[in-house]
Amino acid sequence: MPPVDPWIGPRGSAVERVLAVVRDRAPVTRPELARLTGMSISGIRPLVAQLLADGRLVERDAPADGRRPGRPGTLLEPAVPAGIVLGLDFGHAHVAVAAADLGGRRLGWQSFAVDVDHRADAALDKAAELAAVVLDRAARSTDEVARVVAGVPGPVDRAGRMRSNTIVSSWWGLAIADEVAARLGVDAADVDVENDAQLGALGERAAGAAAGCDDFVYVKASHGLGAGLVLRGEPYAGANGLTGELGHTVVDTDGALCRCGSRGCLETVVAIERVRDRIRFVTGSDLVAPLGEVVAVPAARRIVLEAGRVLGRTLADVANLLDPQCIVLGGELAEAGEALVEGVGESIGRFAAVADVQVVLGTLGSEAQVIGATALAAERARAAAWSAQSA
Ligand SMILES: [Zn+2]
Repeated sequence: MPPVDPWIGPRGSAVERVLAVVRDRAPVTRPELARLTGMSISGIRPLVAQLLADGRLVERDAPADGRRPGRPGTLLEPAVPAGIVLGLDFGHAHVAVAAADLGGRRLGWQSFAVDVDHRADAALDKAAELAAVVLDRAARSTDEVARVVAGVPGPVDRAGRMRSNTIVSSWWGLAIADEVAARLGVDAADVDVENDAQLGALGERAAGAAAGCDDFVYVKASHGLGAGLVLRGEPYAGANGLTGELGHTVVDTDGALCRCGSRGCLETVVAIERVRDRIRFVTGSDLVAPLGEVVAVPAARRIVLEAGRVLGRTLADVANLLDPQCIVLGGELAEAGEALVEGVGESIGRFAAVADVQVVLGTLGSEAQVIGATALAAERARAAAWSAQSA
């Protein structure tokens, strides 16, 4: 009896399985597809021909880059469904909006300084204004928007509501997706609200320091401190969507009061404002220069190094618990550069018992969140369009 081909079963046609593999592993050549599906090349060819004729796959010439042996063939990719997505990032003091197609290619973006923490209404209005400008410049319309992902700088649960009335207090109780949808003129069901650190992780994975990394922790160290987790290739949000509140790890039970109501939280020590306060104190300078420049002064560098050690002490516990491949440092504090990496690395080396983890700087800076938002929106919109095609 011939072996049963697991890809050709009663529950799914061979053509659907081929399509699923291309969507998962694209771009692929026909021989790679044969290997990945366990089918023969002659079995693959008619299925691919059918999918190309249906417009569900596209092909392009493979570059002769030496990575694939033999003569350059053609690469197969899933056809990108029509439509666009919007990514919104509400930072502590800015709003950014980007548009992308469903393949994740950016069509335009805008950002604007606004007090997001204390003026939710103004920030939401500004986001809608920026979205209109981005769409207009890209010659696209709201009708084409398939998905919106909005990142907010605080703990949001799975229903998209802020779960703390003291952290970014003006957002407390808002049905954020409804507010965004009403202002943009889209359906609220097409709007997802996510924590900004989680989106930073997805941004660095899509186009930055964590490319190709399946297990890592992204830290957004700015006004507050949040962590975004990617475990086994998937974002990890916890039981209620509330993972990553790293900033409220208590590092000194007798320490300063925190905006969460507790005392001695990590962010009372290493929030960007606290670090800048100490730099001002020791250098006697009132300059609001970028941290990357300030850190050239030895006294300022020592303060950043110490902040890194304190942050690294907590991250060592995270590394002990999760064994990540790398820890990506992002947010405003990461603008200090290597001094921060050195401080964090020292504590990880000292306190992470067996973890073998690399500490690196994010490469996307303050754009990590909005890039993560558009990447996630494009991924969800593609999945929805493909699932509708298969139905
Ligand atoms: Zn706190």
